[in-house]
Order: sequence, then C-alpha cells, then structure tokens
Amino acid sequence: MQYPLNEVFETIQGEGVYTGVPAIFVRLQGCPVGCPWCDTQHTWDLDPEQQVAPSGIIGKLTASATWAEFSASQLLALFKAQNYHAKHVVITGGEPAMFDLRPLAAELESAGYRLQIETSGTFELRVSPQTWVTVSPKLDMPGGYLVRPDCMKRANEIKYPVAMQKHIDAFDHLLKTCPPRADAIIALQPISQRPRATELAIKTCIERNWRLSVQLHKYLNIE
Ligand code: SF4
Repeated sequence: MQYPLNEVFETIQGEGVYTGVPAIFVRLQGCPVGCPWCDTQHTWDLDPEQQVAPSGIIGKLTASATWAEFSASQLLALFKAQNYHAKHVVITGGEPAMFDLRPLAAELESAGYRLQIETSGTFELRVSPQTWVTVSPKLDMPGGYLVRPDCMKRANEIKYPVAMQKHIDAFDHLLKTCPPRADAIIALQPISQRPRATELAIKTCIERNWRLSVQLHKYLNIE
C-alpha cells in the first residue's frame, strides 16, 4: 500500500483532546469535500503532474500541491532518519480516510507509535481499533459528501468548526440523526479565530458542557 504524502513534520498538536502533545503530522494528499474556509486547499487535488520523488517531500518548507508515494515502512524509516522524538502520529490531510490506513497503523503501532486520524467523517474509516479518531464533521459542503453515521459512531472525539448559530443548529441535527457513542468527547472549534465565532463557541461550550478547541498552533504561529 502506497500513500500520497504531501508533507511530514514534527510539532505540537494544536487542536482537540491532544492539544499540547508533541506529534508527527503526516499530511496526505487529496480531498474532494471542498470546505470554503479550508486552510489546506493545496492538498485537494491528487494531480499526477505534481508527483515528485520521495526526496522532494522531506524537509518541504512551504505549502504546495506536490506529493510523493510512501509505503508504511518508508514512512517509519523517514521518522527515524529525521530523528523525530514524538510518539503521537496525526494522520491528516486532505482527507486521509480516502485511504486504507490499516497497514500504516499496523507498521507504526508495532514500532510504538500511537495514531490519531483527523477526518471529515465522509469516507468509510479503515483504521486500527487503537487509532484515536477525531471526526470534524463537514456539513453541506460543495463536494456534496454526507457525514457517515458509522464515522460518528466510531469517533473518540467530535470536533466541530463553527462561525454562526446556524452551524450549531446543523450540528444539533447531526447529533440527533447520527448519534455518537456515549463517551465521545465533543468540542467546538471557532473557524479562523474570528472573534464572533470564538464568542459563540465559548458560550455554547459552557451551556452544553462541551470542550473548546482553539487551534493553538495558529495563536503560537507554528505549523
Ligand atoms: S475536509 Fe478538511 S481538507 Fe477537505 S476541504 Fe474540508 S477542511 Fe479542507
């Protein structure tokens, strides 16, 4: 199994339950969901013309649509070659659930890593039972993909981006029609650090006893 890798880097997880945890981010290429506010639009197209050799991804410094194929064992070797210290690996994108992540999870978990996937919940999840699943549901996006009930049920954490009350209303409807497991952690994340979105998220989190996720990395100006 080969994975289209856009970039890999070590940093601090800035969102959700694992905020503050040192993490290796593995960003896969490709996403058809089409969120208008997406801050990784360069990952949307899996354009064959943008494919480069694996060496073109290592140490990539600027966001771009280039990608390279990596197997799970090549990725593990890359972690070692880069002398990464973190043991928490975040598989993100793009939409990483477009790919079968079980071979990757098997390789990394047997080497002592813990996996987290960040997904929109619009593709069937193919992950290990141990993988921490963060579903960030994307509703009514231009790509026309629906949030899947099985993804909502599998989620350890549901992290919902909000800017306006209508987003909370849509999220309430989703929680009713696609109920999560009882122990799922629910968090609201203000879109793009907008003050009104942040106020709304804080108010709603307090009222509902949900968590606030603030994209710490953007406040710290780190990747
Ligand atoms: S699902 Fe994620 S990567 Fe895809 S368009 Fe939306 S925010 Fe961007």
